[in-house]
Amino acid sequence: MNSNPDIFQATLSLPNFPDNFHFELEALQNRARAGIFYTPHGPLLTPAFAPVGTQASVKSVSPDQLEQLGAGLILSNTYHLYLRPGDELVAEMGGLHHFMNWPHPMLTDSGGYQVFSLAGTRKIDEDGVTFKSHIDGAAHRFTPEKSINIQENLGADIIMAFDECAPPYDRLYNERAVLRTHSWAVRCAGAKTRSDQALFGIVQGGIFPDLRQQSVEFLTQLDFPGYAIGGLSVGETKPEMHAILEVVDPLLPENKPRYLMGVGAPEDLVNGVLRGVDIFDCVLPTRLARHNAALTRTGRLNLVNAGYAHDPDPIDAECTCYTCQNFSRAYLRHLINAKEMLAATLLSIHNLHTLLQLMREIRLAIFEHRFDRYAQEFLGNRR
Ligand SMILES: [Zn+2]
Repeated sequence: MNSNPDIFQATLSLPNFPDNFHFELEALQNRARAGIFYTPHGPLLTPAFAPVGTQASVKSVSPDQLEQLGAGLILSNTYHLYLRPGDELVAEMGGLHHFMNWPHPMLTDSGGYQVFSLAGTRKIDEDGVTFKSHIDGAAHRFTPEKSINIQENLGADIIMAFDECAPPYDRLYNERAVLRTHSWAVRCAGAKTRSDQALFGIVQGGIFPDLRQQSVEFLTQLDFPGYAIGGLSVGETKPEMHAILEVVDPLLPENKPRYLMGVGAPEDLVNGVLRGVDIFDCVLPTRLARHNAALTRTGRLNLVNAGYAHDPDPIDAECTCYTCQNFSRAYLRHLINAKEMLAATLLSIHNLHTLLQLMREIRLAIFEHRFDRYAQEFLGNRR
């Protein structure tokens, strides 16, 4: 697998694996884990769901509101911030934590996923990817080294290796993407200079158990402080996603956090934790909010529905969020129809609360050794 042993050896002696991060596993029930990931911006309690702030802003909610919601980690996107306002500007303004006023743990992706999604306008080679900006069409190039350099300018606590996410069913493509991902992971580790950031490796391999196994085996040799599982929730079925998590979970080291990228539907969070995942992120709660939909414990409500016009009840009578404590479905529907910005804010608060509260309940249930029962009941109640 390893085509360049010199780079591999050199990597191991570099300051890539800082001391100021460590993961403490606090409780375990079957495969479900509760823990703490210590970062320079405070401890992250896991299992954790990270809201996404694509452009250094979680759409329609303020950092103050995110704090009140109990968000422990937020994610920002390297591709977007590199293009606008530029990572050097963010560095000049004191880094992302200071720039967006989020003093808690933060994660940036590598930019790879967004760049590879620009189908038709990007060109991949062994060294990196050339692509055109979605803003003005200008040509840019990302390499593993460039991605790390941008992420060092942004300054998040957790940064991600530059990887290639292949279509899940294409065997040949996945074989090539896994090798490329591995060689790029080595280069990312070698390019890293800051000791106050933890670089996570990303496991690829589509729906193919042997490729996933190969990927975990290679990456764990590099001893990253955490591992992400990439290339899932990209078109495969739920049973296929679960099967891959079941392959990967027992192979990953127990004392490092595992991060399932881009997954955030309530049932997927429960199913992920059941299979050993510690960290999730997804745009789902805020994106649904902007499309007038509320996530609940049992399903989704579309508040545009005429049936809610005279409905005095909150979105969810059992929900303790600010929105449900203070506003009716009728009012929310009115805000949506009047195109008031507050609609997106109130719905985002509710949707984020639903997922963050779910994670708190899951964590407690693991400590109390009743998560299996909790999960069974939760999944049984989904519509
Ligand atoms: Zn609510």
